[in-house]
Amino acid sequence: MMKFNRILLKLSGESLMGAQKYGIDVTRVESYARQIKEIAEMGIQIGIVIGGGNIFRGLSGTNKGFDRVKGDSMGMLATVINSLALSSALDNENCRNKVLTAIRMEPIGEFYSKAKAIEYLENGYVTIFSAGTGNPYFTTDTGSSLRAIEIEADAMLKGTRVDGIYTADPEKDPTATKFEKITYDEIYNKGLKVMDLTATTMCKENHLPIVVFNMDVEGNLKKLMEGQQIGTIVY
Ligand code: UDP
Repeated sequence: MMKFNRILLKLSGESLMGAQKYGIDVTRVESYARQIKEIAEMGIQIGIVIGGGNIFRGLSGTNKGFDRVKGDSMGMLATVINSLALSSALDNENCRNKVLTAIRMEPIGEFYSKAKAIEYLENGYVTIFSAGTGNPYFTTDTGSSLRAIEIEADAMLKGTRVDGIYTADPEKDPTATKFEKITYDEIYNKGLKVMDLTATTMCKENHLPIVVFNMDVEGNLKKLMEGQQIGTIVY
């Protein structure tokens, strides 16, 4: 059974859309905030990375004529927008939190450093790491593996809208079956789309376990923290 004292929770930007086609679904953000508060009250130290795909992705922008580096900057700013939305929802739940940014933009958020992050985590603040890694050509998957390793998290939890890693996309293939556990190498060898490979490799090299689980079912995050077998563990 895994024991969690400090975690890094990765939420995709797309999941914030809920049933919408673009932007932020407030009920979804509120649901996430409630679940995060629930485990913060258990004394778990929580770092969070949110994606920006619900607003902008640099790579898809290149098809529309955007410069990749500028597009990636737009994507990183999108993650800041999402992070502020979650921060605000956490405030409404009276859950203490901080937004750190990988790129300087005070007073919107404080500039990230490991020391600051650890200080906030140890003082019980939910700490949101925004703007990814601060560099183009990376993703928020890499941002979250990087931050998880830096803050020495016990695991990176990837909250998605499916309940784990499947042999094929369960939304397209009804015969797909779920893995309880899987190794990093099996992900490569089977060509499974769990995270981008840069992030997967970082997790492997630094022995950071990943748990992929359904965050859209309220209560799942808490069950996971209580040690219930939810989702798929990558090790
Ligand atoms: N991005 C970046 N560097 C980073 C993290 C993100 O350039 O370190 C940009 C990139 O353009 C990416 C966008 O921000 O497409 C949004 O992040 P991502 O696609 O990871 O969001 P998600 O898929 O989780 O919604």
